[in-house]
Amino acid sequence: MPDIMTIAACSTVLAAIMCIGMLLSWFKDGRPARLSWLFAPFGIGVPAGILLTWPDILPGPWGLRLGWYFLTLVYGAAWTAARVLGGRRPRLLEILLPCTAVFLFSCTLGADAHMPQLRMFPRVLLFAAYNGLAAREFSRMRRPQLPSATTLYWIFAGFFLFDLARSPLALFLPAPFGPKETEVWSIALFNFLIVLEGALLSLFVTALNREQLAEQHYRLASIDPLTGIGNRRALEDRMQTLTDGYGRNKTVAVAVIDIDNFKAVNDQMGHAFGDLVITNAGRMAAKVFGADNVFRVGGEEFAAVIFASTEGECLTRAETMRTRFAGLRHGSGAESRACTLSIGLAGMDRAEDHDTAFRAADRALYMAKRLGRNQTIMVDAHCPPEQPASTPDRRDPVSL
Ligand code: GH3
Ligand code: MG
Ligand code: MG
Repeated sequence: MPDIMTIAACSTVLAAIMCIGMLLSWFKDGRPARLSWLFAPFGIGVPAGILLTWPDILPGPWGLRLGWYFLTLVYGAAWTAARVLGGRRPRLLEILLPCTAVFLFSCTLGADAHMPQLRMFPRVLLFAAYNGLAAREFSRMRRPQLPSATTLYWIFAGFFLFDLARSPLALFLPAPFGPKETEVWSIALFNFLIVLEGALLSLFVTALNREQLAEQHYRLASIDPLTGIGNRRALEDRMQTLTDGYGRNKTVAVAVIDIDNFKAVNDQMGHAFGDLVITNAGRMAAKVFGADNVFRVGGEEFAAVIFASTEGECLTRAETMRTRFAGLRHGSGAESRACTLSIGLAGMDRAEDHDTAFRAADRALYMAKRLGRNQTIMVDAHCPPEQPASTPDRRDPVSL
């Protein structure tokens, strides 16, 4: 049966291995400054393990006291690593002050000569607090693209609840759980839990880091840099998750939106002005249809997915977009001008094939252009070509 020293030494070696693993992964990712905090809990864990395993390397009780001090810093550093992963700033004071306060307590009031039964109690509460704070950070990051954030949230929430539940036992259990003489089972269980938490942290933090990089690359590849809305790739992905937008709405329609006589705008006002008009159109479409439902699919061409209770309501929303845009003046002073756009709209039910609906909306747009531009035409995706389902009454342009 392994003795206490062997168990403690093995845990220290494992902490060192995890620290080296995190360092290697950090180097492999190009040493991003933002993520230098990720190996801090493991880096601080090594001196903590050494001091708690061989406390005699320092005189008197200082080896153990400092070992525990480092261990509380490990939990604070794990919370900070979670913050940094979530894009928030590290909070050094919030680690150093509570850990130093607990350290001073263990050297004074909680020292053997005073109330040794209280020595572990504040440490356990501090472990619980940092685990809870880390759980909160990972909870903030939870979204479908980052499944490891959810796993880390449950891991830290579990350890938070466990620490909270065991805190009253810190008054009478054997060390390192409480003030009594160390026993093999207590040191084995304690070290097992710390190594387990560290191993899960290193495993899922590395995975989360990779997921965040993938998400960032996806975002860069799917956002149109001029308007900040999604591009054609984002539209294709949106089509795959179309059911997400229904909510209480029963109808979905697709719209193809094209700015009228845009070549003339470019020729008369310059390309930069043309870019401004495109940007304004993208912004307005994002406002009217929702940022997740609008995409720039060509130079001055946009696609939108419209969710509403009825097809008539889809048509009204498209008309809102058209009339608001027509009422907007782009630029300022003598250099300003208004522009119009045409919209082709096709309703589709849930089982509809998206390509058919977009082809129908394109046909409707072509009709709107042929009929004089600055109008919305809606077709039923099942109707044969040249059969508009509805053309709304023309309305005067309204201003924003
Ligand atoms: P219509 O009413 O029939 O749509 O006429 P149009 O002049 O808008 O015709 P068309 O769609 O052929 O013209 C698109 C023009 O948009 C051609 C191209 O020079 C311009 N364009 C494409 N991308 C950009 C861009 O990013 N910025 C600017 N300023 N112009 C662009
Ligand atoms: Mg055009
Ligand atoms: Mg065009």
